Amino acid sequence: YTAKHTGKRTVFYDDTQDENSLLRLQLVKDLKDAISNDHLDLHFQPKINLVNQSVSSVEALLRWEHPEHGMVPPGRIIPMAEQTGVIQQLTRWVLARALRQLSDWRRDGIDIGVAVNLSAYDLRDTTLPEVVHGLLTETGTHPEQLTLEVTESAMMSDLNNAAQLLSRIKEMGVSIAIDDFGTGFSSLSYLKKLPVKELKIDKSFVINMGHDENDAMIVHSTIDLAHNLGLTVVAEGVESRKVLEQLQSQGCDLVQGFHVCKPLPAVKLGGWLREMSHRVTALHKAGDVA
Ligand code: C2E
Ligand code: MG
Ligand code: MG
Ligand code: MG
Repeated sequence: YTAKHTGKRTVFYDDTQDENSLLRLQLVKDLKDAISNDHLDLHFQPKINLVNQSVSSVEALLRWEHPEHGMVPPGRIIPMAEQTGVIQQLTRWVLARALRQLSDWRRDGIDIGVAVNLSAYDLRDTTLPEVVHGLLTETGTHPEQLTLEVTESAMMSDLNNAAQLLSRIKEMGVSIAIDDFGTGFSSLSYLKKLPVKELKIDKSFVINMGHDENDAMIVHSTIDLAHNLGLTVVAEGVESRKVLEQLQSQGCDLVQGFHVCKPLPAVKLGGWLREMSHRVTALHKAGDVA
């Protein structure tokens, strides 16, 4: 820190930036403690199948309630973890927590898959496939029940290495999804090089497609592109019934969004899933009768 002389005494230069970096140092320390002490949490948001209204998987989203600062958003936590070398530990915590949750749900009669987000840094971690394999075995999870979501830009930052690592993971039976599709590099040739099963259209296009023709067209084209490449397509950020219906008529496979279900703590989501499956069963029964 730069010391600054002020006539009277020497004080530490305390403009907002330095104040922020002190706060940051403290936050980084708190984050490390939170990972070690299991003080982080996950919320889960369902991916809804538009064809049969069923839910076969949920996305795990990191949550950290800081004792003094309140909720620290993942958009803040992840870059901090990347820059301070704790991302590997954090990703492992998320994977372990998510897979343990699946086995808890299975025990309660809820059979479902989970999607975990990876950081660009995780794609350089050559031990990741073994870690994933170990956690799947430990929790008795079928590899088909796990999806790893990687953003387009994370994959592009080191395409060859990403392709290699993700191929090893895919060989185990785990699925790979491209997250935030449409916001990264615009060359589509990389899609052929990656062992991807699912493409998630970024919410920035989906949110406004109800009243923005360009966004609606981008989403529609992306759905066709995904299908032509043999990929499952997910629209994230579905905030209205209008958008949901548009996506349905455009042939989108799966949706996520506040209109359907917000990310929820595990216990609440368990209740939501149970209610949803009763409703779908009732619908099917009504169909049988008719
Ligand atoms: P993402 O993977 O694209 O996740 C979707 C984000 O959109 C989540 O924000 C979710 O809460 C939010 N969302 C869901 N439905 C709607 C909707 O209808 N409208 C709007 N406006 N937003 C919606 P969240 O939880 O704040 O996460 C932000 C990003 O942080 C994630 O984007 C992901 O890139 C990253 N992230 C979250 N958890 C983890 C994690 O465990 N590990 C890593 N590496 N990244 C994570
Ligand atoms: Mg995601
Ligand atoms: Mg996304
Ligand atoms: Mg995002």
